[in-house]
Amino acid sequence: MKNLKSREIRLKKRPNGMPDASCFELAETSVPEPKKGEILVRNSFMSVDPYMRGRMVERESYVPPFQIGEPLSGHAVGQVIASESPNFKVGDFVTHMLGWREVSLVGSDPIAQLTTMKIDPGLAPLPAYLGTLGMPGLTAYAGLLRVGALKDGETVFVSAASGAVGTVVCQIAKNKGCYVVGSAGSDDKCDWLKKEARVDATINYKNFKDEAALTAEVKRLFPKGIDVYFENVGGAHLNAALANMRLKGRIAMCGMIAQYNDTALPPGPSNIIAAIPLSLRLEGFIVSNHYDMVGDFMRDMGGWIKAGKMKWHETVMDGIDKAPEAFLGLFKGANFGKMVVKVGPEKAV
Ligand code: NDP
Repeated sequence: MKNLKSREIRLKKRPNGMPDASCFELAETSVPEPKKGEILVRNSFMSVDPYMRGRMVERESYVPPFQIGEPLSGHAVGQVIASESPNFKVGDFVTHMLGWREVSLVGSDPIAQLTTMKIDPGLAPLPAYLGTLGMPGLTAYAGLLRVGALKDGETVFVSAASGAVGTVVCQIAKNKGCYVVGSAGSDDKCDWLKKEARVDATINYKNFKDEAALTAEVKRLFPKGIDVYFENVGGAHLNAALANMRLKGRIAMCGMIAQYNDTALPPGPSNIIAAIPLSLRLEGFIVSNHYDMVGDFMRDMGGWIKAGKMKWHETVMDGIDKAPEAFLGLFKGANFGKMVVKVGPEKAV
């Protein structure tokens, strides 16, 4: 492994508002040999996720910010090409947190130990471990079943329903016998949700000119109201959901991508008052606080996949140089299902 080179994407500058290509730079670096406890991974696919937008700015949060001049990081999947760790051998397929580079030197620190996992490439193709079988899948599972406290047969509304998290939310709810409506930004995405994810109805939110029209459509599709709203978007979607919740409804606050690039605080949900008479529960959550559910998640997800009750869709961009474009595309709906970047061969040894 001497003289091994790897290309990586570094943060060049911090964005103000919507980021663009000038915030990133591609660089080549020499990869050191692994020391005791470390492994080298040739990455096949890396993930881009909306939460990375928050890491581009300097502020305290549940994950530290990216640093200017340093490579970005995030989930990636690949094959071990050198190992000085007793836990991994050359040839193992793993997911880890040092994406945005072609080759990752994964350390032996506690965070790396906790977040580097062997995976079974026989259960599903590698990119699925960045989506349905990975962090977004666990987000859907914990958010819907624990935070949303979903009961069989309830009514469920999902925003960004055709994305990495949303597709899984829709199908878990269908697997629990629920009535499910998904909102997404194109007719193609809505068709897939109906045909493959088995949702009962869809809303192409771009066809509704304002919040009142969206709210009226949600009302039409939920004549008796919503038991669980899975919030991925914020803005008009949250108001439309609040206007249509049922008594003791739950809102699982997963994300609000519509406001990640805002430069000033947007107006709050104007009808939040609905939470009082309806005894609603709005609860935010971060997936990393629910890692105790990984065992149940993998068991259930494995069963659903084998039974043909969990489908997924991916948008794959080719080459590490395309990673910034892939990431920026998330804010324009350029992805259909999980957005991943192919950064190397699927088999490295
Ligand atoms: P997606 O795969 O859903 O990609 C983002 C999608 O959001 C786009 O494809 C687009 O789809 C939609 N979107 C973008 N901008 C807007 C907008 N202004 N209004 C409405 N829809 C918009 O991403 P993920 O599934 O990875 O993430 C979904 C949400 O979950 C995000 O908010 C993310 O931050 C959050 N999240 C939270 C986690 C947690 O631990 N709390 C963990 C993981 C994700 P469309 O074509 O439909 O517009």
